[in-house]
Amino acid sequence: MEIDSLLEMVEAKVVCDQCGNQTAHTIAWLKTNGTYECPVCGDETDLRTQEWADRIQGYIDACTGFEE
Ligand SMILES: [Zn+2]
Repeated sequence: MEIDSLLEMVEAKVVCDQCGNQTAHTIAWLKTNGTYECPVCGDETDLRTQEWADRIQGYIDACTGFEE
């Protein structure tokens, strides 16, 4: 399976800093959007931080691992 299709299937949880609301989004979504707006309180989470880059890369590595 291609990595792109895997990234559209694997979901990561985004937790709102303000209200703690959790929403699952696919890795493809996270990479495309760059920011996440909480549906409950409207607070914006920046997905372009180094922390998120590492996290997303971790999911990608995990996906790639499954393939082998
Ligand atoms: Zn929130």
